[in-house]
Amino acid sequence: MGSGQVTDWQGKNVTVAGLGVSGIPAAKVLHGLGAKVTVVNDGDDARARAQAAELEALGIAVRLGDGATLPEGTELVVTAPGWKPDKPLFTAAREAGVDIWGDVELAWRLRGPDAAPWLAVTGTNGKTTTVQMLAEILKAAGLRTAAVGNIGVSLLDAVLGEEQYDVLAVELSSYQLHWAPSLRAHSAAVLNLAPDHLDWHGSMEAYAADKGRIYEGNRVACVYNVADKATEDLVREADVEEGCRAIGFTLGAPAPSQLGVVDGILVDRAFVENRQKSAQELAEVSDVNPPAPHNIANALAAAALARAFGVPPKAVRDGLRAFTPDAHRIAHVADVAGVSYVDDSKATNTHAAEASLAAYESIVWIAGGLAKGAVFEELVAKSAGNLRAAVLMGADRALIREALARHAPEVPVVDLDRTDTGAMLAAVQEAQRLARPGDTVLLAPACASMDMFANYNQRGDAFAEAVRELGAGA
Ligand code: ADP
Repeated sequence: MGSGQVTDWQGKNVTVAGLGVSGIPAAKVLHGLGAKVTVVNDGDDARARAQAAELEALGIAVRLGDGATLPEGTELVVTAPGWKPDKPLFTAAREAGVDIWGDVELAWRLRGPDAAPWLAVTGTNGKTTTVQMLAEILKAAGLRTAAVGNIGVSLLDAVLGEEQYDVLAVELSSYQLHWAPSLRAHSAAVLNLAPDHLDWHGSMEAYAADKGRIYEGNRVACVYNVADKATEDLVREADVEEGCRAIGFTLGAPAPSQLGVVDGILVDRAFVENRQKSAQELAEVSDVNPPAPHNIANALAAAALARAFGVPPKAVRDGLRAFTPDAHRIAHVADVAGVSYVDDSKATNTHAAEASLAAYESIVWIAGGLAKGAVFEELVAKSAGNLRAAVLMGADRALIREALARHAPEVPVVDLDRTDTGAMLAAVQEAQRLARPGDTVLLAPACASMDMFANYNQRGDAFAEAVRELGAGA
């Protein structure tokens, strides 16, 4: 299919892999353009059948229970981003010389000739937050924009819908980047890189390489994290447009071509007239909500992308002030008897938990759940100094308990030995008993939630509910 726009879809045989949030809209759009669409799906349950019936009524063919076989005559595969690259369907496609596009690639190829440029964000943690901050900053500059991609408006809707945009703030996962070979962003940021989803990518190198794809062909700026050398290495390896600059962000004082922090002020030493001698004030640290170190890093990355797009300093400040974080991301729930209760249920991996444990000085830490193969040694060793105590629950709590015994033997640990939903109330009660005035009780599980809860939202809600019960009894 080459690497450019496909203008004539009439009669093209397209196989859409996966019924789901990206597959169904992709199938409908391609069908609408005149392609001959076949959807293949591994599952064959009641839900899949209902979805299949809906598509078949439109004239789209659906094969349930067989996501492995490449339909005869396929000219293009459009896959759900989560499908693993080693699936037989893809092997067959590669052998037949058939291109494989993900949802992002499809949106990129279908965008119109005057389409809005993309400011793209990836990273192990902080993507959603950064993209939302970026969208607020762009809005504050009077630009028509939206936070799209992994969040909010779908990319297909954003590029094909009625709404006109000047620029898009795009969140991209490593899976989406893997399947988006021809994406060329205006500017892009990789926030950080820690081992995650390695079972999918196969290795840390492959994971990093997929994340690094976001920089390919950038026109104005490749934004990297000065504190995370791996992100800078990815910039160096990327093939970018001539004149595209590497821009670092740092929580320290910025060098030329960096954004950073000086005396509580976010400053820009990259997009200024004379970056050797001058710096531009953008906002105060207190304009960032919450002003935890990792979140200031997110704000600097968002600011760097916005500045790369030419946004004035005042819009950065106004946008950051307008930003409110999504639920369960370092959300302050309540103060009870001088103790602050904070819900960071979204800290589903060790890297995220490490960031939130660094944000408070004296913490009673509620942790545990599904470890997904993670190790907790580094997290516990780095955070030990901030821990008053730990309360553990969930399927893989023993891994955290052992890490605590090795690296923080003086920290009292309560092992709840429970994996039922009601354990959260017991955990919060234990945490209350262990906390002293001025402490923070922090839910930052460093684990996925599915052993005990439907998702991290439900886990965070259970925490907030338990805190409210404490408050009512206080
Ligand atoms: P993502 O979209 O990448 O999952 P979110 O913005 O939803 O990221 O944040 C997820 C969690 O990651 C937060 O709850 C917080 O604990 C943590 N986090 C956010 N930003 C960072 C960062 N820059 N570095 C490390 N951890 C972070």
